[in-house]
Amino acid sequence: MATVEQVIPLAEAQRRVLDGCAVAPAEPVALAEALGCVLLDAAVAAEAIPPFDNSSVDGYALRAADAADVPVKLAVVDELPAGRAPSRAVGAGEAIRIMTGAAIPPGADAVVMVEDTDLDGEVVTVRRAATPAGGIRPAGDDVRRGDVVFDAGTALGPAHLGVLASLGRLEVAVHPRLRVGVLSTGDELVADGAPLQPGQIRESNKDMLLALVAQANAVPVDLGLVRDERGALVAALEQGVGDCNALITSGGVSMGLYDLVKVVLDEIGRMQWMQVAIKPAKPFAFGLLGGDERPVPVFGLPGNPVSSLVSFELLARPALRQMMGHRCIERPTVRALAPDGFDRRHGDDKTHFARVRAAFAPDGRVHVRSTGAQGSHQLAASASANGLAVLPDGVDVAPGGEVDVLLIGAIGP
Ligand code: AMP
Ligand code: MG
Repeated sequence: MATVEQVIPLAEAQRRVLDGCAVAPAEPVALAEALGCVLLDAAVAAEAIPPFDNSSVDGYALRAADAADVPVKLAVVDELPAGRAPSRAVGAGEAIRIMTGAAIPPGADAVVMVEDTDLDGEVVTVRRAATPAGGIRPAGDDVRRGDVVFDAGTALGPAHLGVLASLGRLEVAVHPRLRVGVLSTGDELVADGAPLQPGQIRESNKDMLLALVAQANAVPVDLGLVRDERGALVAALEQGVGDCNALITSGGVSMGLYDLVKVVLDEIGRMQWMQVAIKPAKPFAFGLLGGDERPVPVFGLPGNPVSSLVSFELLARPALRQMMGHRCIERPTVRALAPDGFDRRHGDDKTHFARVRAAFAPDGRVHVRSTGAQGSHQLAASASANGLAVLPDGVDVAPGGEVDVLLIGAIGP
């Protein structure tokens, strides 16, 4: 049974969705698969980085006291490439040619760089005075054994993966990427490139939503374009439940006569139908499919392309991030300057999310401007948006005024 649809604030819709989306269990994954995933446990260093004192330059390992007064001539007694263990010590009046990353030989307490020397046969002239410990990267200089390098809950970026590799880790326990199925619905939609017949339009939401899923660091699963037909919808949704951790549908959740997604989801899922006090993207559905032992959240997004985009950003993305263990599930918000302002509106009791382009201005602040037409069918004007300006009902943003902006992309120059 569908719950009664009353208009609810966005925060209430978000709370309902998040309440239904449990964090997926962590599992070991190969480092190469872990980018953007969240660490289950703190990462503790089983080894030091670097593991031994080594040279930070190509040069000569020597006793600093021997090269305190320069120029001085020292006998070159050995050569040490990176990766070879030292086979002899540096004695008084001696030097060992050493490459970046090679272990400091016993007896040496400094390295002078090759640029400050001249080699003549087996004798090197050091032109710049050595300082004790100069040119040496001590063991544990980056990470000491036993250090907590990353806390539980860290979202792994490229350099985190590099550090874990430096510590000898091949795998790491993370909340894995979720498989998120995306299906489009609507008999008017054409997806195969065929000429449009009267009344038909091209399907556009699926590629966009699959890309948004990928951008959220989940695995997009294409469940196809499904006809407004009961059997086809049930089959596609059941396939999705079997194969995915979450599902996203677009279209068919509003008040139209052929909004069959609604009928079918109500039959096979535990659904909440919502009217959210936002524009675009007022109609929205959330529910759980599958058995209680493995519930699969389903996000029913409205069909208008801009509504699908905004609905994904505000309601689906935070939930997917929560399921993938992220501590920070929201897009960042900045307080920005609106040189052109935004038209004052009142009377619809909705918060509007205007698609804007945010950029750093010469005054050092983020400035935002509308990307153009703001209709929920006008995706082209939204394509260049990297922000959603938050415009509560009745709020006036005069030219040069300030506005909160949810950043859905990186801020450019
Ligand atoms: P609906 O929510 O199914 O009533 O659809 C609302 C509007 O969005 C209609 O104009 C649909 O044709 C359009 N629409 C629905 N799904 C898609 C889609 N996948 N691609 C492009 N337009 C769509
Ligand atoms: Mg439809």
